[in-house]
Amino acid sequence: MGELGLIEQIRSRFSARGRGVALGIGDDCAILRPPAGHEVLVTTDFSLENRHFRRELHPAKSVGHRCLVRGLSDLTAMGATPVAAFLSLALPGDFLKARKGQRWVAGFFEGLHLLAEQSGTTLAGGDTSESPADLIFADIVLIGSAPRGRSLRRSGARAGDEIYVTGALGGAHAELSALLGLGRAARAGAAGHPHLYPEPRLGVGAELMRRGMATAAIDLSDGVSTDLAHLCEASGVGAEVEEGAIPLHPLTKRLGRKKALDAALNGGEDYELLFTARAGARVPGRIAGVAITRIGTIRKRNARVPRVVIRGAAGEVRELMPAGWQHFSS
Ligand SMILES: [Mg+2]
Repeated sequence: MGELGLIEQIRSRFSARGRGVALGIGDDCAILRPPAGHEVLVTTDFSLENRHFRRELHPAKSVGHRCLVRGLSDLTAMGATPVAAFLSLALPGDFLKARKGQRWVAGFFEGLHLLAEQSGTTLAGGDTSESPADLIFADIVLIGSAPRGRSLRRSGARAGDEIYVTGALGGAHAELSALLGLGRAARAGAAGHPHLYPEPRLGVGAELMRRGMATAAIDLSDGVSTDLAHLCEASGVGAEVEEGAIPLHPLTKRLGRKKALDAALNGGEDYELLFTARAGARVPGRIAGVAITRIGTIRKRNARVPRVVIRGAAGEVRELMPAGWQHFSS
């Protein structure tokens, strides 16, 4: 199988049309047609071998899934509906000539395809090339749409707003550390695979936008400590998080309380959403089937105290340093 065989394999798997896609793979360009009154949102992400994944550690299917998750999570953080993805993929020379390489590519597209189907995203184009090294590089562009002027942004939080997160935190970090220790994936229990197969909160962002409930939102790709700081900076405010309110993922239990909290605050890659709402807003306990937990309050920016602080069980307040954890970084 050469490059043409690969493109044929991709084309047969992904349909040429989809929601918002008038023409997909197969011509010089794709043609997108977002609904009337909508605007287009665009996000792009690298998936680089040994930076974002390791071939010996991550199943190819997981790499394909994760390649798409990051962009989907960014779209949902802004309340957008996914429309199309464009993938550029560089594979090592001779990769496609060996059975092992072919299996990797098939697994990668299986993971990508499953999540694309679930999320209604059409792979509408891309490019393939021989990698200049014995490494796999993928770059994906995701296009979404949202009613004009309605997208959720990071910049709308005001003093007094309450801070909420979806789901539970720290699971991705807990599974990755188990993966690194074990050298392979553990069997999926009830807790699932928050690192290998994180679930983007697709329904939640759209529902928050529909209800006009969130004043600001961001997805938790880097961890609460880092992403909340981004939101506060964009909104020109500070924040106080309550340590006891942080919803810990069941997989963090075996880490012990201190490390579990660290995983939840700094681990990153949970792809949950963090949003703010006015103090009087009736935020439900579940949105689109996902648990919603209040974790703190937005404060007026005060140059004499750190931008983001955390209140411990005994009431003591300390700085929550942005410490979003980057795995495989040098
Ligand atoms: Mg993001």
